[in-house]
Amino acid sequence: MRWTLPFFIAIFFLLATGRAAEWTLYKVGGRDFVTLENLSEFYNLGSVRRANNDFTMAIGQRSLRGTANSVEFYINGLKFNLSYPITEVDGKLAVSRMDLTKVIEPVLRPSKIKGAEKVDTIILDAGHGGHDRGALSPYGCEADFTLDVVRRTRALLMQAGFKVVLTRSNDTFISLNERTRIANRYTNALFISVHFNSGGAGTGLETYTLAPRGVPSMMADGPRVSDFDQCAGNVNDAQNMALATATHASLVVRSRMFDRGIKRARFVVIRDIAIPGVLIEGGFLSNLDDAKLVAMPAYRQQMASCILQATMNYRRAVGSQIGEVAGRKSDGPRVEIPPFRTSPGITSGEPEVVIPTAPATN
Ligand SMILES: [Zn+2]
Repeated sequence: MRWTLPFFIAIFFLLATGRAAEWTLYKVGGRDFVTLENLSEFYNLGSVRRANNDFTMAIGQRSLRGTANSVEFYINGLKFNLSYPITEVDGKLAVSRMDLTKVIEPVLRPSKIKGAEKVDTIILDAGHGGHDRGALSPYGCEADFTLDVVRRTRALLMQAGFKVVLTRSNDTFISLNERTRIANRYTNALFISVHFNSGGAGTGLETYTLAPRGVPSMMADGPRVSDFDQCAGNVNDAQNMALATATHASLVVRSRMFDRGIKRARFVVIRDIAIPGVLIEGGFLSNLDDAKLVAMPAYRQQMASCILQATMNYRRAVGSQIGEVAGRKSDGPRVEIPPFRTSPGITSGEPEVVIPTAPATN
C-alpha cells in the first residue's frame, strides 16, 4: 500500500464537556487511516513507544501493540487480525478507519455499543452431524466433539439461569440454512457455533466473526464484489466483535493453546443471523497434540466453562444485565486479563457517528 494523496481531512467534534475530540483522517490507497498518536490521545493510552517496526501504547491493563505492514494487532494482550495492515503515513504509523470503528472501538468501549440487546438466551450450534462427520482425528470426529462441548455448555448455562437452544441435540444432519432459521426465531439471544479445525501444519485456537461490509473474508483468496453485500449479521458488527473478544479471551487464557487470533469470515451461520454470533475453532484435529487435547473430556468441559464465562463477560461489557437469576448472582468471576473496560449501562441519546466521538476517561 502506497501513500498516494498528500492531504488530510480534520474532523472536530465538540463535546458537551467543551473538550474537542479530533480525528485526523489520512487517505492511503483510497482508504482512510488515523495515526497511532491520534488513537492514543483519544483513548488516553499514553505515549506511543516505537522500536523499529514495532509499537506499543499502554496505561495500566489497557494496551495496544502491533507492527508496521502487519495485520496482527494486540488489544490488552489478545490477538486480533486487522482487515488492513498498519501503514506508514508521513513517518507515522496509522490504522485504518475500518479497523478503528469495527475492532478497536467496540473492544475498548463495549458499553458504548448502540442497540445492544439484553441477553437471556444462548443458541448453541454444534458443527456438522449425521453423514457430515467434519474433521477427523485418530481419536474421533469433529461432529461428535462439537456435540459433546455443546451439551456440556448447555448444562452450565442453564445452571447460570440462561435459556438455551441447541440447533442439534443428537447426531443428525442439519443444513446451514436451517441452523440460521433456528437462530432467527429468537431475540435477546447470542449464537455460538462450535467447530474444530483441520489442515496443514495448523495448531491452536481461532475465533471467527462476520466480516463488516466491504471487508474481504480471511478465508477468501482476495476481495470479491460480494464483499459489499449487506448481510443480515452486519447490523450487529459491534456486538459481534465484542462477543468474539469475550469468547476468544476466555478460551485463550484458560487453555493456553496457541493464539491464532480473532478473524473475519462470511460463514453462513454467522452471516445470515439477526442476533450477535461467533464461530469457535477449538483446536486442530489434524495436529496430534491438539487432537489429544480435544479428545480429553476435561478439555471439552473447559471449553464449556469458557463459553459460559464469555457470555457473562459479554453481557457485563455491553451493559445488558438481566440481573439476579433464581436468587443467585448471575455473573461469574472476571476473566484473568480483562478484555474490556467496563462501565455500567448502555449510553443512549448520543448521535450516530461514523467514528468514535468521545475521548476515553479513566
Ligand atoms: Zn467444522
